[in-house]
Amino acid sequence: MEVWDNLQQVREKVRLAAARAGRDLKQIKIIAVTKKVEVPRIREVVQGGVIDLGENRVQELNDKITALPADIHWHMIGHLQTNKIKYVVGRVDLIHSLDRFSLAEEINRRAVKLGVAARVLVQVNTSGEKTKYGLSSVELPDFLTALRDLPQISVQGLMTIAPYAPNPEEVRPYFRELRLLADRHGLEHLSMGMTNDFEVAVEEGADMLRLGTAIFGSRVY
Ligand SMILES: *Cc1c(COP(=O)(O)O)cnc(C)c1O
Repeated sequence: MEVWDNLQQVREKVRLAAARAGRDLKQIKIIAVTKKVEVPRIREVVQGGVIDLGENRVQELNDKITALPADIHWHMIGHLQTNKIKYVVGRVDLIHSLDRFSLAEEINRRAVKLGVAARVLVQVNTSGEKTKYGLSSVELPDFLTALRDLPQISVQGLMTIAPYAPNPEEVRPYFRELRLLADRHGLEHLSMGMTNDFEVAVEEGADMLRLGTAIFGSRVY
């Protein structure tokens, strides 16, 4: 029940943020981030109508794909090693964490082999925090150009992870920057906003929110 209640509260907050920004709620997708969450609790959100789930580790992703219904849309949201790509392409709906060209080449190679298009978001480190993966805004244009040589990579948009800030208003500029970059390059989707800052992200145009703690409570490590 706890998960159910959390989900209702999150949806209400998303609705209010969308209304403040004059946005259509239907354009905003909640991705429940299920890392460290046990399958029975994940089932609760699935029963609550969430069909998009996100994982940041390949092993956990594969275990959960096996354990949960086949019609779930899986999102790979974490940093990827090239040697794990074979376990990801063809199994997930969207890879949010394309952060270097060698990874793109490997994704493309695998997609060619499977005869599929690999849908990806390019991760941009808009805050410039050294601990975060992702391209700088400056590197993005050339990177997008280079990706055109990889025929089975389909770039759907951009993703960013904002730094943690006690006051989420502080990260608004990083979300705004991501939206400007997406607009400039004609990219549709924006994966931004986590538990701490998703309302600001909605106001700045996010259409994919990656929410873990807000739905499942604190993770136990
Ligand atoms: C864990 C994680 C999230 C969810 O974080 P919460 O703060 O728990 O909502 C979102 N995105 C990525 C990339 C993550 O690793």
